[in-house]
Amino acid sequence: TLSDRLTTVLQGLRGKGRLSDADIDATAREIRVALLEADVALPVVRGFIAKVKERAKGSEVHQALNPAQQVVKIVNEELINVLGGETRRLNLAKNPPSVIMLAGLQGAGKTTLAGKLAKWLKGQGHTPLLVAADLQRPNAVTQLQVVGERAGVPVFAPEPGNGVGNPVEVSRLGIEEAKAKQHDIVLVDTAGRLGVDEEMMKQAIDIRAAVNPDEVLFVVDAMVGQDAINTATAFRDGVGFTGVVLTKLDGDARGGAALSVREVTGQPILFASNGEKLEDFDVFHPDRMASRILGMGDVLTLIEQAEQHFDQEQAEKAAQKLHSGQLTLEDFLEQMLAIRKMGPIANLLGMLPGAGQMKDQLGMLDEKHLDRIQAIIRGMTPAERDDPKIINGSRRLRIANGSGVKVSDVNDLVNRFFEARKMMASMAGRMGFGGGGGGSK
Ligand code: GDP
Ligand code: MG
Repeated sequence: TLSDRLTTVLQGLRGKGRLSDADIDATAREIRVALLEADVALPVVRGFIAKVKERAKGSEVHQALNPAQQVVKIVNEELINVLGGETRRLNLAKNPPSVIMLAGLQGAGKTTLAGKLAKWLKGQGHTPLLVAADLQRPNAVTQLQVVGERAGVPVFAPEPGNGVGNPVEVSRLGIEEAKAKQHDIVLVDTAGRLGVDEEMMKQAIDIRAAVNPDEVLFVVDAMVGQDAINTATAFRDGVGFTGVVLTKLDGDARGGAALSVREVTGQPILFASNGEKLEDFDVFHPDRMASRILGMGDVLTLIEQAEQHFDQEQAEKAAQKLHSGQLTLEDFLEQMLAIRKMGPIANLLGMLPGAGQMKDQLGMLDEKHLDRIQAIIRGMTPAERDDPKIINGSRRLRIANGSGVKVSDVNDLVNRFFEARKMMASMAGRMGFGGGGGGSK
């Protein structure tokens, strides 16, 4: 992947006392190949490489950094620039309702995104309304209704005598409905085609004219690589848009679309979708994406997701217990469930520094294994979870039978738990955490 390639290229610079122009040229060439392989558009690659070279050869010398670190810093900063610099927030209207229109090819992920955005906005205290203006595909309206139900957000759909067969009319009526029912944001889901075509574009243009949106978000499948650029250009010149949403980033090994789309269209990326579930969605942060591409891991995103899903009080309680060596299997189970709520474990690992290379060793963290651990702990009585020391041979057999695993699996879990608890408590001690009183068990 791009991140692996760049990591390797930049690691090659390590240990060099100073970089000659030849070193910089060679590094630039390799970065160029890595970007092209990742399907980054050629003009973007050219501009990027020129900037990096210029800065690396220039007088930009920081005493505190060695040459390799300087190049990493420059590459990182230029990546952030290409990705748009600052995080761009959603533009909302001064006088609600704000109108957000979604446009893009069929299958890009518009309807899925509508649900994700609706849920996210609702979580922030907004009262969104979804409008089903895709009347092209037979099931499009139903699909949005299902998504709306999952997000807990109402859907305005055409009814007999009210906009049936006319997406422009449905959109207009949707805005009326939002005004009447005091929704502060309207999300208009529109129809796409498999390829760019005139009729679709005209429809999008007419809808845009009818609803006068505060944002037109161009939704694009990041997996399609170079093709994303062509589509983006067609939509920019057709209906026009104010922002981009990248979808299916979970499936994109190359990351090229992310790097090209902003630069080529001149419009910022606002959100990123990385899975089929409503939670697989994030505000797009250029700096975090850059560090992800550079293989530094997206620790900030992880922290933010963790904050959303963890109960602060519960987490603090667990941390205190951990530091004092009093963590129980019940706490462990709670923490594990909280982590798993954040999404597939493989996605989470992708955000951790270096985890890319460690995936194999971390094979033990696969979902099936987690299911088993969960089953085993669930098979224990509260007393056993609270004090795993009491889990003797006959209890182990009972737990194994109850949770459909082998006794050795139970042994394994209990032993690992003791080891981990001991290790974490001693680590916490060395790092000087308070531990909040309480002796060890
Ligand atoms: P639309 O035609 O633009 O409305 O696209 P849909 O929202 O119907 O999505 C098309 C397909 O892509 C569906 O099967 C979605 O489940 C899937 N999909 C959408 N977004 C993502 C994503 O971020 N990751 C993955 N893996 N699948 C997605
Ligand atoms: Mg759709």
